[in-house]
Amino acid sequence: MAETGSERKVELVIVGGGPAGLTAGLYAKRTELDTVLLERGLPGGQLLNTELIDDYPGLPEIDGRELAELMTKHAQKFGLEIQTAAVQAIKKLENGDFRVTTEGDDVYIARAVILTAGGTPNKLEVPGEVEYSGRGVSYCAICDGAFFKGETIAVAGGGDAATEEADFLTRYVDKLYLIHRRDELRAQKILQNRVFENPKIEIIWDTVVEEVLGDEKGMNGLRLRNVRTDEESRLDATGLFVFIGFLPNTGLLEDHAEHDAGGYLITDRDMRTSIPGLFVAGDVRAQLTRQITTAVGDATTAVIAAEKYLTELKEAEATATA
Ligand SMILES: Cc1cc2nc3c(=O)[nH]c(=O)nc-3n(C[C@H](O)[C@H](O)[C@H](O)COP(=O)(O)OP(=O)(O)OC[C@H]3O[C@@H](n4cnc5c(N)ncnc54)[C@H](O)[C@@H]3O)c2cc1C
Repeated sequence: MAETGSERKVELVIVGGGPAGLTAGLYAKRTELDTVLLERGLPGGQLLNTELIDDYPGLPEIDGRELAELMTKHAQKFGLEIQTAAVQAIKKLENGDFRVTTEGDDVYIARAVILTAGGTPNKLEVPGEVEYSGRGVSYCAICDGAFFKGETIAVAGGGDAATEEADFLTRYVDKLYLIHRRDELRAQKILQNRVFENPKIEIIWDTVVEEVLGDEKGMNGLRLRNVRTDEESRLDATGLFVFIGFLPNTGLLEDHAEHDAGGYLITDRDMRTSIPGLFVAGDVRAQLTRQITTAVGDATTAVIAAEKYLTELKEAEATATA
């Protein structure tokens, strides 16, 4: 939109430009739906935080940013319009349309919405975490790893992201402590093995970070607590990367939609939510696993279902006015 504060009508709004949103955009334009995709940052989503992807079929090894660019260009080849805009609210109106409001106060009135807003990294919520964020504490290995060349750092977590990123970070750092609150990792076996075999990584089991320590120069250590013995210790480290899960970005929904205990939106097999006309795809959706392949698969289904929904709406309106 040229000016802020304007209102525009479209058939379909896609919120979020990660793998799910870009795939939805590709299929929506290929199906010739009047569509706009709203993305608050650069298109690509978490691909922009991922270095090597080796599990996307047909592309045995690809850099995340390269895949993001390829997906963006592919969707744009079909004519997808991508607007840089942070969506603030999505509201279902009485007439069945949706009002999608951006931070710049632009309003899109859409007949259907596909929400593909992914998630936000969980925080440890300990003293010093916010204070030293950007001065030692990070949530993105690819963005910040190179700042820690030759240093000793820690990674908090025990799932796929923590193990994968710990392994990645050892290309820069001399020593890495993986701090995990349990006595076994939750990550896939292949990722666990990479960590076990990496001589730069030492795992500190049954332990949580209690505080991020530092001075005016930045972070210089962690206060740790063993959850079994309650014993506290200090770990000298100049960096802490936190990978302890994601919170789905569903806060923009003004109406209640069914969700699971983690806040992920529940859909039927066609990506329909409990709000008619609202479809979701990708990491924001309740499902067994969250991968690029599942995000693009969900998004494909969501567009086909949205197209069907829009056709049925038009048919019902035509019948009503006949
Ligand atoms: C470190 C890491 C490594 C990974 N490695 C792999 C891997 O090797 N293989 C694999 O298959 N998967 C991997 N994944 C998982 C994969 O990246 C995700 O499953 C996938 O990106 C999900 O796509 P998505 O489009 O649902 O969400 P996202 O990629 O999170 O995209 C969501 C988009 O929505 C935007 N957005 C959010 N809120 C708003 C708003 N209010 N307004 C506008 N835009 C908004 C965000 O800016 C973002 O661009 C990895 C994830 C991480 C974190």
